[in-house]
Amino acid sequence: MVKKLFWENPLQDTCTAKVTSITKNVNNENTTFVIQLDQTIFYAFSGGQASDQGTMNNLNVKTATKVGNDIHYELESEPDFKVGDSVEIKIDLARRKNLMRLHCAAHVVCFLFEDMTGLAPGDAIGSSVDPHKARLDYKYPQNISHVFEELTKKANEVFAKNHPIETFANKDDPNRREWECKSLNQACPCAGTHVSNTNQIGKIKLKRKNTGSGKERIEIMLA
Ligand SMILES: [Zn+2]
Repeated sequence: MVKKLFWENPLQDTCTAKVTSITKNVNNENTTFVIQLDQTIFYAFSGGQASDQGTMNNLNVKTATKVGNDIHYELESEPDFKVGDSVEIKIDLARRKNLMRLHCAAHVVCFLFEDMTGLAPGDAIGSSVDPHKARLDYKYPQNISHVFEELTKKANEVFAKNHPIETFANKDDPNRREWECKSLNQACPCAGTHVSNTNQIGKIKLKRKNTGSGKERIEIMLA
């Protein structure tokens, strides 16, 4: 199982890792190589958070896929290394930082929105984070834009202040992670990557979308 260094230090943008497996996949037209590592800084899509982008020994990583507690990295070029070799992993740190900021912003907007509307924690029916925006989906009987002015104001007040954020392993299962902001009295299970203080998020803006009958979406963007 790969050791996930992005949980300990989400700002680490390079690391050396040992190759534990290489599988050649031959499809009709393209051949790819799936690489597994002993440790990694390269996040794979999970919990709605997009994968990182980056390289392995300067070869572009096409996809990163979570498989159980492991991560499979797909290369389009034949690797210049073999099982047991050390490789250099690099990620796009600017992209990662946006993911961290928007991911944390989504946690705070989620809690504030649920508090303002009387929804219960966990009432969101979907969420995702990419480098440009985060989204939260709710079943909600009316247009939610009436709360947006106050929601945006409250969220930006939180992001203008110093609220430390902690992430740590679940005490019963080291493969699960917890997110907590003690000064806001907020916590939830989450294995994504986050900033360590709400004052690193910056200002946000919100946009409403109706995604179907009785379904409302909050889109969160960095202002
Ligand atoms: Zn999270």
